[in-house]
Formats: sequence, C-alpha cells, structure tokens
Amino acid sequence: MTVTALLTLIALRPAAAVVSFGPVVPFGSAAAPASTSPATVSPSTPAPASLRVPARIDPGMQTFAPIRSIETAEPAVAITFDACATRTHLAGFDRAVFDAVKREGIPVTIFVAGRWVEAHPDVMTELAGDPLVEFGDHSYDHPHMSNLSVERIIAEIDQTEAALTRYGKHSVAFRPPFGEWSHRLVYVLRSLRLPTVTWDVVSGDPSARTTRDGMIRNVLDNARPGSIIIFHINGRGWKTAEALPIILQGLRERGFRFVPLSELMASARVPASPVAPIPNAPGPEAPPPIAPIPAATLPPSAPDTHAAP
Ligand SMILES: [Zn+2]
Repeated sequence: MTVTALLTLIALRPAAAVVSFGPVVPFGSAAAPASTSPATVSPSTPAPASLRVPARIDPGMQTFAPIRSIETAEPAVAITFDACATRTHLAGFDRAVFDAVKREGIPVTIFVAGRWVEAHPDVMTELAGDPLVEFGDHSYDHPHMSNLSVERIIAEIDQTEAALTRYGKHSVAFRPPFGEWSHRLVYVLRSLRLPTVTWDVVSGDPSARTTRDGMIRNVLDNARPGSIIIFHINGRGWKTAEALPIILQGLRERGFRFVPLSELMASARVPASPVAPIPNAPGPEAPPPIAPIPAATLPPSAPDTHAAP
C-alpha cells in the first residue's frame, strides 16, 4: 500500500478503530511489552501537512495495542521465533533450533527482519518451501519504531514484505523490534492490515545468562491456552536448541498442541470487537518505563531478554 493510499484510508476511515483479533491482556501484567506514548512525529525532513499524524492521539486510539495472547478455550499455543538483523549485524541462522522444530514436526511462525531475509537466501528458500513455516514482519532494519514517522514505519514494512515476496511469501503479523510499541505504530500497522503481535511467554533466550533449565521452567510455568511464546532463531538464542525439545515435550504432556500464529489468531473467541480501554493506558506526556522481564527468568543484572539483534 502506498503512503497516499494509507493516509487516505486513515483519513476516510477513522472508524477503522476496530480490532480484528482477540482482546488484549490488560496493561501491566507480567511480561507486558514495553509501551511508549504516541508522541510527536519528528521525521528528519518535515512531511507535508497532509502526511502528518496528530501529536495527540484521540482517545479512541488508546484501544490500539498489540496482541499478546489469544483468548481461546482450545489448549493451543503458537511457537514463534524472531530472526532479527540490523544494518551492521546481519546475524545468522540457528540450524540446531530449526532441526529441533523439524524433528517435532510443529508449525512455527518466524518474524523476519528484511535485512535478515536478504542476508540468508539459501535458508529463506528452505524456509519458504517448508509447509510448517509461516512468516511475520519484524521490520527491515530492526529500529526502535514507537516514535518513527508514518513514512518510516511504512518503509520498514514495505521493504520487508518486498523481500518476502521474492520467496512467494507475505507476513501474517508484525512484531515490533524490542517489543517497543506505541498506539500510533499499532494503528498504522492495522491500517496496513497487519496485526501487531508481541508475546505473553518469554523464553528469555537472547540473554547469555539464561540457563536451559530457566528457559524450560519459565515457558512451562507460564504457557496458557492461547499463549504466544517467543524464541530466537538467528543465533542469538544461546540455549534454545538445548531447551526447545524439552519445552515442546513438556507442553505436549500438559495437553497443549501447536498451531501457527495465524491459526491461533483466527480461533480467537472474541474475534471482532474493539478491545476494552486499557487500564492506566499511558498518556502522550508520560511514557512509562519499559516493563521489566519477569524476575524469575533472569538474574537482576541481566540485560533485556529481547536485545537486538
Ligand atoms: Zn528482534
């Protein structure tokens, strides 16, 4: 979609404040994604007035928040991976992790940065040909996106979708780098027809301090019906290959089955109603601090578990 088309859509359809997927877990619960306020747009070159997004978002915008989990009666969970890459760190591909996925024969959703797609053509050909794999959009350059201009947001998405198109694929959802989001970011993504999805269960795998047993315990203790579980497959999951088979086995023993994220979203019990206002939703002037990772996962001095790339 072009910028003009998007902005026309936004202008003509303010009632597009309807969410197509399940309700959002209330703000402030454990492992909540980082949230920043919808702030003033400050593109490096001033955009024409018609391309600017208001500095203050009207109250209806407060309903735009990521999907963290899906409300469903089904004991189903989605196993998701991030494949982050930046301009200077193209990262790799964790073959051992993917081997574990293949051995288990489970569907997975891989959120790819556009640069990662372009840096791994052979792997992408393999993944794109695998019916167990679906893709999500993880931006192009892995920037902090919550305060990006609308044009930059669209460029980040378009470039990654163009990279995926070369493999005959498109994304089923968008996951913001670092889990950082704003109401405006989610709103723009919604206008691009991509639900913004974070997670409700962190494996903690990007931290070198995360132990295999800690990962296993954290995922098995926190998985619920409708959970979206995040791992990394770009070589930044230090213990993922060791822990993943045990985690998958443990989830199976608890009665869970594995579904692609797209299928989990489609099974939402409350599919099309607007989300309820978020308690204590951040105002534009007072962005809250980034939510801490659950203490059970990492030692106090550990870095952000979703460090890039
Ligand atoms: Zn990432």
